[in-house]
Amino acid sequence: MGASREYTTEGVAVRHAVVGERDRIVTLFSRDGGKFSAVAKGARRPGSTLGPCVDMLTYGRFHCVRRRGLDLITQATPLDSFTTMKADLWQMSCGLYICELIDCSNAEGVPNSPLFEFLISVLKNIDSAGCDDLVLRVFELRLLDYLGFCPSLNKCVTCGSVLQPVENALSASLGGALCPECANRCPDAKPLSVDALKVMRFWLGCTLDSARRVKLDQLLAYELEEHVLRFIQGVVQRDIKSREWLVRLKSEALLTRTAELSTIPRRIESE
Ligand SMILES: [Zn+2]
Repeated sequence: MGASREYTTEGVAVRHAVVGERDRIVTLFSRDGGKFSAVAKGARRPGSTLGPCVDMLTYGRFHCVRRRGLDLITQATPLDSFTTMKADLWQMSCGLYICELIDCSNAEGVPNSPLFEFLISVLKNIDSAGCDDLVLRVFELRLLDYLGFCPSLNKCVTCGSVLQPVENALSASLGGALCPECANRCPDAKPLSVDALKVMRFWLGCTLDSARRVKLDQLLAYELEEHVLRFIQGVVQRDIKSREWLVRLKSEALLTRTAELSTIPRRIESE
């Protein structure tokens, strides 16, 4: 960002807070500077040009001024508003979940441009091809990888032996897969099926479009969700509010076969 008082960066708003009657504190995840918060003056005023640019789930270019307290966003240009994603309640909720994960897993001021590029590519992909649980799992697993907390999946993390194509185990406390013998001595080891291991290895090295083509039966999908969630919880160390919302949305959609989805508010207040 340079030593000047002014700087320009590209980012996505991942959290909002209100200040006074018209302003907003925006937490941005940026390409160059990682996560930081700044004030968008007048962003809540009707007709504000800054307002739409600092909306949640908008990728924009932000011109900012350093100040003693929070920096000030003086100008912004939207680069992608992901309008298709935002028009669909489920997809938008998935996007907000992704934002919350980014927010609560990244410390302020720690740049992670590979994670930023991945975030933008996932949001663009959801905007053009929709979102399902599989996309969220891939995002969670790759997020862990970009943060350096990816489960180790090549050898047993305890004895170092090569994992055989049998039921192994996964331990969040030990950070990866265990052979059956070592799993017996690890209290938080959970069974890891051959297919779950294969899918996670594949997801870590492929494009999102290839990852989408993996067919999962319900049991395998559930196993993957449980494994990845344990690792995510180890990183974020708190409840993820928007995940609870996704669970509720899904169960209501299942109950009503989507007939009553239109009665759920279209906007989610993130403040
Ligand atoms: Zn072992």
